[in-house]
Amino acid sequence: MSNQSPSELARETLKTLATRKIPPTPENYARIFAEISGVAPSELNGAEKVLRDVAERLTQTPKSAAIGMALRKVIRSEDWGQCLTEIEKILPRQGMETTQSWSSLIRDLLRQLEIPHKGLPIARKKAGLETVLTRFAGNPETLFEKLTGLIRSWSESPTAPDTIEMESAPAAQPGAALPAVAHGSDTEMLGKLAELLAQALESILSAQPELAQEVQTLALQARSIETHAQVTALAKQLRQFWIKVDLHGGDKAKIHEGLLRLLRLLVENVGEMVEGEEWLQGQIIILKDIISNPIDRHSIADAERSLRDAIIKQGMLKHNLTDAKKTLKSLMTTFIDRLGEITESTGDYHHKIEGYSLKISKSNNIAELSHLLDDIMQDTRIIQASALRSHEELVNSRKQVNEAEARIRQLEQELAQVSEMVRADQLTGALNRRGLDEAFEREAKRCERNKSPLCVAMLDIDDFKQLNDSLGHQAGDQALMHLSSVIQETLRPSDTVARYGGEEFAILLPDVGLEEAVKTIERLQRELTRKFFLNNNERVLITFSAGVALRAPEESQDELLGRADKAMYQSKMAGKNRVMTAL
Ligand code: GH3
Ligand code: MG
Ligand code: MG
Repeated sequence: MSNQSPSELARETLKTLATRKIPPTPENYARIFAEISGVAPSELNGAEKVLRDVAERLTQTPKSAAIGMALRKVIRSEDWGQCLTEIEKILPRQGMETTQSWSSLIRDLLRQLEIPHKGLPIARKKAGLETVLTRFAGNPETLFEKLTGLIRSWSESPTAPDTIEMESAPAAQPGAALPAVAHGSDTEMLGKLAELLAQALESILSAQPELAQEVQTLALQARSIETHAQVTALAKQLRQFWIKVDLHGGDKAKIHEGLLRLLRLLVENVGEMVEGEEWLQGQIIILKDIISNPIDRHSIADAERSLRDAIIKQGMLKHNLTDAKKTLKSLMTTFIDRLGEITESTGDYHHKIEGYSLKISKSNNIAELSHLLDDIMQDTRIIQASALRSHEELVNSRKQVNEAEARIRQLEQELAQVSEMVRADQLTGALNRRGLDEAFEREAKRCERNKSPLCVAMLDIDDFKQLNDSLGHQAGDQALMHLSSVIQETLRPSDTVARYGGEEFAILLPDVGLEEAVKTIERLQRELTRKFFLNNNERVLITFSAGVALRAPEESQDELLGRADKAMYQSKMAGKNRVMTAL
């Protein structure tokens, strides 16, 4: 081996490479260097080869691949300083230091786990711990960091010394947590086992809170174990305890059952919603809260109770609303019923109702609504009373009106009868003179309008004085009535009969000429020979003498009747019981 310094050897090697015109590759450099220094190249490359192998292996594992690549690079460039830095990355941390920080972390963890924190049950802490352990198990460094963060977050929560689950908790005596640390290895092991047992016991707490008291007593007992006798005694107690835990084992099934029942309740209730959304949101928040916290029978029972309360309350609300609806309905009906009977108070009620409906629309409080309904009912009673009063008044006045109407009808009828009588002859029912006047005026106008003829006949009973004298005045009256009825039966309905004098009748014959009028009166004469006047079952023949006249244009009633009367007189003169026409 040459006694030259490495830098002198390096210079010499480079000079040789240049002199021999050899390309300055690492391999050529190594060869010439070995030649000059007298050291075999394989011996020199041994450490480098090991380093290359290390780098190669690192690259094969994904976690360390980056370091492996970096290492390979620095080896190639023979940057040995950087090479160490890269290797340090894969070296375990300072053994003692790491162990110490982990042990203090675990101690903190246990302490913080046991300290009761407000709103932070041990079960939730354990769930958090479980999550961190699962997620970061593969990376001790991150795990350490996350656990530290978790413990810090617990320790920042306010403590709650009075919570049930930590009553007489051993955390209050930190010395007892690891009682055997100062003793020999057996005692230390026993202490650790005791602690593990205590923790295992405590894990039951989250699932079966009803065993809390017992669990804590047992955990405390486990942590304070120092003698074999104590172990034996605890073992006996534990055996009994496990049996109890087994008995409570059905809890999970019960929890599921409870949850299902809860969900069923909620789902069933969704269809029953009155004020739907708001209430549903509230229920969803309750359920979310239940789900986000560790589930146990008690929290489910609480939630179920609160749900039931809500449902009962809702049922009452619904019932009240149904009632309210009914009341409003009847109010509306009443209102509409009374609408026809407009009174002053109805107007007032209208105004009030408007005010009420505004209040109702703004109210979402059943108690308030109930008060409003009471007020409305009160007002309605008043309005009903008032409407009833006005209704009675209306009925009374309607009765009076009806009576008045009836009276008026009766009077009108009487009046009509009276006026009829005024126009009619009381004995025969034929028109009287006044009736004849009216009938003549009417018929004359009508015939003028229709350009149709109007005839008039004057009749006088023959020898009536004699009838009166032989049969009596009353028989005379009967004879007059008989003649009148025969005339009315024989003539057309459009013809008019009037009693003109004692035993004289005037007949208006519209729409017929003189000849036909004569024929009509002659037919009447024939009828009288068939329809005898019976007096005491004795046939009495009545005859009359008649004169017929055709109305000349614009001829007055008196003129026309005068001409007919003249013709009648001529019939008398000619021998009676005959019909003569006027000129
Ligand atoms: P002539 O054939 O010429 O007409 O003879 P007459 O007897 O019918 O004539 P006259 O005028 O002399 O007599 C009419 C009588 O009719 C006189 C009167 O007593 C009678 N008389 C008039 N009006 C009524 C009446 O309303 N009832 C009754 N029973 N008789 C009456
Ligand atoms: Mg006469
Ligand atoms: Mg006569």
